Amino acid sequence: MASCPLQVAVRIRPHQPHDGKNGRASVQAADAATIETTDGTDTKTFVYDRVFGPEASQQEVYSHCALNLVDSVIEGTNACIFAFGSTGAGKTHSMLGPEGGRRQATQDGILPRAAAELFRRIARVEAEAKAAIGAKGFSAYEVRVSFLEVYCENAFDLLSGPVSASRDPSSSCQLRETTDGRVYADGAKEERIKSCEQLLDVVAAGARARATAATGVHAHSSRSHALLVVSVEHRWREVGETDPSKFKSQVARLTLVDLAGAESMERAHGGSVDAAGVGTNMGLLVLGRVIRALAEGSERVPYRDSTLTRLMQSSLGGKAKTQMLACVSPAAHEGDVTLSTLKYAASARRVLLKPEAAAIATEFESDPMLADVEDDDAALNRR
Ligand code: ADP
Ligand code: MG
Repeated sequence: MASCPLQVAVRIRPHQPHDGKNGRASVQAADAATIETTDGTDTKTFVYDRVFGPEASQQEVYSHCALNLVDSVIEGTNACIFAFGSTGAGKTHSMLGPEGGRRQATQDGILPRAAAELFRRIARVEAEAKAAIGAKGFSAYEVRVSFLEVYCENAFDLLSGPVSASRDPSSSCQLRETTDGRVYADGAKEERIKSCEQLLDVVAAGARARATAATGVHAHSSRSHALLVVSVEHRWREVGETDPSKFKSQVARLTLVDLAGAESMERAHGGSVDAAGVGTNMGLLVLGRVIRALAEGSERVPYRDSTLTRLMQSSLGGKAKTQMLACVSPAAHEGDVTLSTLKYAASARRVLLKPEAAAIATEFESDPMLADVEDDDAALNRR
């Protein structure tokens, strides 16, 4: 696959009651790819791959930003989408949907839509494979999910029950690297998922485990990063393969990241950061440096300088297809942080990626997935 730039979209959220009344907008979408900002005297223009105005629907944002990432993982290529922006700018709304309350399908964010599409695709591809290769063949997908929070440079597993409110570092996961260079959180649970509903239930449980911070969910989520990794493993037996224990396997991952509030980066620049803020800001600061280094084609890219960038390394400079969704508030009093978000997002557009399918492994062991499928086949044949 040819190299392609990191894709950058910007979303301006609608005006909210807490923005205040006579809030003159500091940003507006000039067209589908251009944003204009003004601080009253000075007007600036920024161009991205796509700009969504306040009226954009969740469906539009999903279709543009994430649908093609689902295609990628089904085809065996890693994909990543990360939401960047200040607290209250609409990151979680875009990634998940409105927090709390009853779920409304039209308000579903990127994750529930991507999960539904993923399982629809899997069902279709498996049915097609079955029709094409018949009972002798074998082709199946397994989906697993892990959900981490990165806080003060520590990675906490959100799927092993409530995280201690104090985020005790001794309960965090060590980062380790596989032989092919993928960084993972050792000991973090990977839950096997059979349906979209189950995936959303697991994510909701993870979000509840995260909400144990003494400072409250919102204050906490603005200082930590949430990383959801959906692993999609395809296993198949080649047509004509006579050894039933011999099959191939390919794992592609879809990583969805809801970053800490970008305003904490500003505080870090100002130097007035409390102890708890330092780690959080570190991730965003290093992410900025990584993006700059990649954009400039530097030899040294400082992935290793933060937990966040280590975990995102294979999505940033590697073989993944990556989308950034920068979220901004239209409120005039947020003008400064909006401007710095827009600059950060503009620099990310210069990063070149080389999406490439994940390696294919040949396996020889018998395997539970294979057993599942063979049970299905046996049941079909008995009918
Ligand atoms: P963040 O995760 O960036 O801190 P949120 O996603 O929590 O911000 O958004 C802040 C508030 O604005 C929430 O009440 C959210 O429901 C609302 N909001 C954000 N984006 C939109 C949108 N596109 N449409 C409607 N409400 C939105
Ligand atoms: Mg949020």
